Amino acid sequence: MDCTPRSNLATYSGLFDHVRRLFAATPVARRRRYGPGRFSFNVAEGRCPTCEGEGFVMVELLFLPSVYAPCSSCQGSRYNAQTLEIEWRGKNVAQVLAMTVEEACEFFAGEENVMRSLSVLREIGVGYLRLGQPATELSGGEAQRIKLATELQRAQRGNTLYILDEPTSGLHPADADRLMRQLQGLVDAGNTVLVVEHDIRSIAQTDWVIDLGPGAGENGGRIIATGTPVEVSKAKSSRTAPYLGALFNKVVAAK
Ligand SMILES: [Zn+2]
Repeated sequence: MDCTPRSNLATYSGLFDHVRRLFAATPVARRRRYGPGRFSFNVAEGRCPTCEGEGFVMVELLFLPSVYAPCSSCQGSRYNAQTLEIEWRGKNVAQVLAMTVEEACEFFAGEENVMRSLSVLREIGVGYLRLGQPATELSGGEAQRIKLATELQRAQRGNTLYILDEPTSGLHPADADRLMRQLQGLVDAGNTVLVVEHDIRSIAQTDWVIDLGPGAGENGGRIIATGTPVEVSKAKSSRTAPYLGALFNKVVAAK
């Protein structure tokens, strides 16, 4: 992933290519001969010339460290006024980048190509992120899930090994379950998904568990138990077992 303020959720999920094409296809854009490139803040013709599409400018202060301030020419929108005159369903491209994934799902309803990317992003639990959210502002977990979303949109060949490091960290349980369903989809397509995880609910949903321990860091690294989640929940020496066991008992009790 290109991790600079020049890349954002919309650009590296592939979503922005479709959005820019929609803007270029509007009657006004066509009359003015604006192509999809015009709606990228990385291309000179469409972006704000003052901040060169950064959205902010560096202000040098006497005796103090320089600070970044929103660009006064474009008010931080990154685009020049002519580009912002082009609207699709009443919004310009900067207003679209300010939308969250959830908001964009409503706004782009019916636009198949855009919706395909958006619904995967929503499924992996990042519906609250803005489309223009710079890559540098994302947490490790978010960046990992977005990479996964990009992967999920690709045609599945069924021969890929995915390795994920605590993909559910920071997720609400309902979103963790959605993510697990997406991962199960990859497995159903014939791929292998290997997840490093501490979340018991996620561990309980896997096909096979390798319990490493007994402690953390230097005190761990040995295989304590392997098997299906139910088998590992019965392993005597495993510290994970009682937690898994409690979860399964709760599920049985609920039924
Ligand atoms: Zn500017």
